[in-house]
Amino acid sequence: MDCKKYINDIIEKLERENPGETEFQAAAKEVLISLVPALEKNPKFIEEGVVERIIEPERVVMFRVPWVDDNGKVQVNKGYRVQFNSAIGPYKGGLRLHPSVNLSIIKFLGFEQIFKNSLTGLPIGGGKGGSNFDPKGKSDREIMRFCQSFMSELARHIGPDTDVPAGDIGVGGREIGYMFGQYKKIRNANEAGVLTGKGLTYGGSLGRTEATGYGLVYFVDEMLKDNGLSFQGKTVVVSGSGNVAIYATEKATELGAKVVACSDSNGYIYDKNGLDLELIKRLKEVERKRIKEYVAVHPEAEYHEGGNIWSVPCDIALPCATQNEIDEASAELLVKNGCIAVGEGANMPSTLDAIEVYRRNKTLFAPGKAANAGGVATSALEMSQNSMRLSWTKEEVDAKLKNIMKNIYVSSKACAVDYADGRDLVIGSNIAGFLKVAEAMVAQGIV
Ligand code: GLU
Repeated sequence: MDCKKYINDIIEKLERENPGETEFQAAAKEVLISLVPALEKNPKFIEEGVVERIIEPERVVMFRVPWVDDNGKVQVNKGYRVQFNSAIGPYKGGLRLHPSVNLSIIKFLGFEQIFKNSLTGLPIGGGKGGSNFDPKGKSDREIMRFCQSFMSELARHIGPDTDVPAGDIGVGGREIGYMFGQYKKIRNANEAGVLTGKGLTYGGSLGRTEATGYGLVYFVDEMLKDNGLSFQGKTVVVSGSGNVAIYATEKATELGAKVVACSDSNGYIYDKNGLDLELIKRLKEVERKRIKEYVAVHPEAEYHEGGNIWSVPCDIALPCATQNEIDEASAELLVKNGCIAVGEGANMPSTLDAIEVYRRNKTLFAPGKAANAGGVATSALEMSQNSMRLSWTKEEVDAKLKNIMKNIYVSSKACAVDYADGRDLVIGSNIAGFLKVAEAMVAQGIV
């Protein structure tokens, strides 16, 4: 069997059958190409049609989300939940609220989630959802009415043993709170395990807020150590200024790095003295302001409206904003300026061409589905605590997170050694994530 041709034929069919879904096509292509050596060693996955089945979501739900704005005007958004794969556990993955959201983006994220969740070693399947609702500039009451309307429909499709949504871009503790309140009211049941990222007063887990950012730095630290390097004394650029960026900055700084830049969708801040993280937390988490306000407090720092944050020289780049934020040219720029490692806090922030640039230049690369799995892993720990009706301390959760990130590195690296050149964590993490799901799918028959 020519596995390369087999995979190329599947990619061609996928592109034909999912026209215009560029994000989904790119994500699927990246994974499928890297599976070739795994299929060569495991022909049973071909006989059982695992690849053909894994690229097709088990279920896609699309729905209307009507709500009334503060002026009494009726607004309508599109709602989505893609339940991609439940072979190893209930569908699990975040909800994204952003004007760019469409079916292609939710399918790409849901597909990535299958492999990411498998890598955590915990029993969670892959799913993703969201809406093209734009939270920017909305009042708290508008956010609440939107979340309630969104959950009025979503509630019938989810449950603690079926599908467990959480946050993503545009969805944090506030939104999860409003959605949980509505779910509880509709179901007349206090099922804490139906959503993760909840507040600490009603079933949330200590350490969940920090988990994606901390987990990213734990993973990159493992990768650096494995190559005789560390964060100590390194200059770091972090894109974004949300939850992932903030806590990646905190942990990298704790490990001795200097984080000099971060961004939002309008522009980026460069502070050569190292970012004032307490100020960023206040601006973003409390006052919900734009990052440009930073320079009002620190006039010595620079704000670049619309500039490219990847032009700032750094040793380590941690893209924590959104997909496709590092293209080929930005990757070239990073390498030219001496960047030795890239760790993805966001989901697929590097384009396929950018990843080729890292490969060519032997830049250490921690792909998102391995490096940012700490968030969803800690969501799974939240589900465990909810099932037990007990809660662990922050230290307990953090110790488990650290261990999980280490294990993800070890298993991805092991597959990189077995199936590739020993360095390529894209191939390593894709195959490590795939093998468990594929075994579970084969065991459960053609369903
Ligand atoms: N949205 C996050 C991710 O991309 C977290 C999902 C979750 O906690 O379920 O993995």
